[in-house]
Amino acid sequence: MTNTESAPSAAKKASARKPAAKKDAPTVIEVRNPGTGQIVGTVPAQSADEVAATVRELRLYQPEWEAIGPDGRKEWLLKLQDWLIDNTEHLADVLQSETSKPRADALIDPSFGADLIGYYARRAAKFLADDHPSPHSPLARVKKLTTAYRPYPVVGVITPWNFPLAMPVMDVIPALAAGAAVVLKPSEVTPLSALELARGWREIGAPPVFEVVTGASETGAAVVGNADYIQFTGSTATGRKIAAACVERMIPYSLELGGKDPAIVLADADIDRAAHGIAFGGMFNAGQVCISVERVYVEAPVYDEFVAKLTANVKALRQGIDGRELKHDVGALANENQVDIVQRHVEEAVAAGAKVLTGGKRTGQGTFFEPTVLVDVDHSMSCVAEETFGPTLPVMKVADEAEAIRLANDSVYGLSASVWTGDKDRGERIARQLNAGAVNINDVFANLFSYALPMGGWGLSGVGARWGGANGVRKYCRQQAITKPIVPTLQKELFWYPYQNAKLLTALGAMRAAGARGLRRIDIPALLKLKGDNK
Ligand code: ADP
Repeated sequence: MTNTESAPSAAKKASARKPAAKKDAPTVIEVRNPGTGQIVGTVPAQSADEVAATVRELRLYQPEWEAIGPDGRKEWLLKLQDWLIDNTEHLADVLQSETSKPRADALIDPSFGADLIGYYARRAAKFLADDHPSPHSPLARVKKLTTAYRPYPVVGVITPWNFPLAMPVMDVIPALAAGAAVVLKPSEVTPLSALELARGWREIGAPPVFEVVTGASETGAAVVGNADYIQFTGSTATGRKIAAACVERMIPYSLELGGKDPAIVLADADIDRAAHGIAFGGMFNAGQVCISVERVYVEAPVYDEFVAKLTANVKALRQGIDGRELKHDVGALANENQVDIVQRHVEEAVAAGAKVLTGGKRTGQGTFFEPTVLVDVDHSMSCVAEETFGPTLPVMKVADEAEAIRLANDSVYGLSASVWTGDKDRGERIARQLNAGAVNINDVFANLFSYALPMGGWGLSGVGARWGGANGVRKYCRQQAITKPIVPTLQKELFWYPYQNAKLLTALGAMRAAGARGLRRIDIPALLKLKGDNK
């Protein structure tokens, strides 16, 4: 085991805290470094009973967590932020051990996490403050109107393996900031970093409102079976199952799923920047990013220049296993399953006439696959139509902007996109025609580092969104409407029993006078009828 001495003991501690762990002897999941094949830790595959016991325990502590308010919670969240910063090197070690990421990539998770914590810890009070909307009609001015934001007691967060620390932080922190307790089920492929996060929470002495449960799909299903809100990130296939299970329980959910993000390079673009940006956007984390660039459309006049520059940039990438030194740009794929998908996409494309300009095969070591550029590809090929989630960049020539937009929108996914152009306003006009939850102009991933913006997918890329300023915490809350009288109240409202013509007419007439327009404000037939009744 390399650099992860504390991880299994953290796993043991985590499971020892759960009463049901003594009853069920859990089977064990081995965690491997995909670059070396070495086992780097073990975690229990927790049973549905254990998950239920964890959630029951979280429920006990949640009301107090809600009661201390956003300012009370801010103190704990900022302590966790300190802990992340102080433990960055160790967290990067653990993360590298279970992913084989280059050091540079591994260092991103803790820093990203600290940045996100700062945003939500400091702003939650403002975001969760009661709203006092103006009454819709003069008649409603007799009440003070309040919308209060009250957290779901227990939020279940289920995360994938591509960012083993950042993914949990992205959703756990806003939920905690909202006042919910959180049960996190990290991917069984990379559970060690999430266990470190839970260790950090305990180490700072925070209230026990955040727990990690480990295991595979059964453990995840138990989280869905017990929590009050589900935040899921992963494949569209699993997201669909989770949505169905949530509907069965009538609990809300938010899903961030697959993507096939297009990049559009226009003839007026800075081609050097586009070729650098798209190489990074396609190869970062070996392409295992939900919002990575997965297909590229280039206007004909700059196609040759762009392809040559992109290929040179991708060829220059250094691939291999890092220690603590920054030696490499691209690491391994998460597991053999990912290698199989990438290999199949490349082989099917080549068999159908595509050309590999660089890369195209596994390196022979661990689960490394060479950064790959493909041309002569089209939408009939799996490398363009299906999510690859690997280091491939299929590039297509288009006649003009209109063809680029049409092809970019020809996908069941709609997570994010990028447009590369010398005319930023043109870029924005194109952005508004793309079916994607986010569009970055002359950049990649920029929306991911802007928590004030929503991050969500359209189509099969998801339901709902994370972040988006206040919505990032309000989504974990139930909205409660409270009305409070602000004028002395009558013994009986006009509308209350027993119904009487005169009182009813006054009440309904007043509503009509306030809401309708022109002569319809006055209900003349009703007035005449009332006059008759009173004879
Ligand atoms: P991948 O991470 O390989 O894309 P998934 O989307 O299936 O695959 O996994 C994402 C997360 O969802 C992981 O933590 C996984 O254990 C969990 N998971 C898988 N199946 C289910 C399920 N039926 N219910 C709840 N969680 C699940």
